[in-house]
Amino acid sequence: MAFYFVSSECFVSVSTPQSGEFGTLYVVATPIGNLDDISARALRILADVSLIAAEDTRHSTRLLQHFGIRTQLAACHEHNEREEGGRFITRLLAGDDIALISDAGTPLISDPGYHLVRQARAANVRVVPVPGACALIAGLSAAGLPSDRFVFEGFLPAKQVARCTRLTAVQYDPRTLIFYEAPHRILDSIADMRDVLGADRPAVLARELTKTFETIKDLPLQELYDWVAADTNQQRGECVLLIAGYQEPADALEVSLEAQRVLTLLMVELPPKRAAAIAAEITGARKNALYQWALDNKAAER
Ligand code: SAM
Repeated sequence: MAFYFVSSECFVSVSTPQSGEFGTLYVVATPIGNLDDISARALRILADVSLIAAEDTRHSTRLLQHFGIRTQLAACHEHNEREEGGRFITRLLAGDDIALISDAGTPLISDPGYHLVRQARAANVRVVPVPGACALIAGLSAAGLPSDRFVFEGFLPAKQVARCTRLTAVQYDPRTLIFYEAPHRILDSIADMRDVLGADRPAVLARELTKTFETIKDLPLQELYDWVAADTNQQRGECVLLIAGYQEPADALEVSLEAQRVLTLLMVELPPKRAAAIAAEITGARKNALYQWALDNKAAER
């Protein structure tokens, strides 16, 4: 007999099997609107597993009926995932394959599943992703904003003060920022983004992706706010907000002659970083710009 620790409250005991006898937990992406976006592999796995752990069984029943899949469903949502995870792990350890799905898109991405996946991995159960639709990736792929580096912030807090605090934390992040937002908060959130990140910051509202009224609108934040405010249709449905990362203003890197003079004197005695920090305090110029100038001019001296 072996005992597997699956959560802070829960131990599962099974007769010691070879790991090959364990079932597999498949993490299966489902469509975010257009049902054709489910993969052939996802359909095959959903039909073959012993059990589907679903965020909302009624919602998923409709999806499965559409594809003629009759696999048994069990609820796995944010309110029972920790406590009920042990039941799923017991079945996995007994050799049953289970598919985890959420209401739309990829499980765990602003959706339940994290605790179950943790528990499965802790119990040495194989966890296999079955990739597919994900709203943030779909939005990013069509937004026309830099996609080489991005940060997904999920849903912002509902309360304005907390929301602005979160926005302030990413204000100077140079990576593309991606947020999920509920339709009834879209206008308030765009207003806070405009106030914290700047009225001119390029932004994209990706709404109802893969659905009939799909809209992908790119405008600076102030104009995006005006556009959404003027049309209540834009305040409906599901949306992803994508915002360009912070860019140093072109003139910010210019260093005044006075700052250059102070920095040059300090650089005689100090390394560039320290010299730039002190010169910034003396002149009020930006430390980054001074540091860059110090590096460029040190290089030019060689
Ligand atoms: N797991 C999902 C995924 O992979 O994208 C996200 C689930 S989260 C609970 C739901 C949020 O995702 C929505 O409020 C919206 O911000 C975004 N979303 C989901 N479907 C969307 C769609 N078709 N178009 C735009 N945004 C969508």
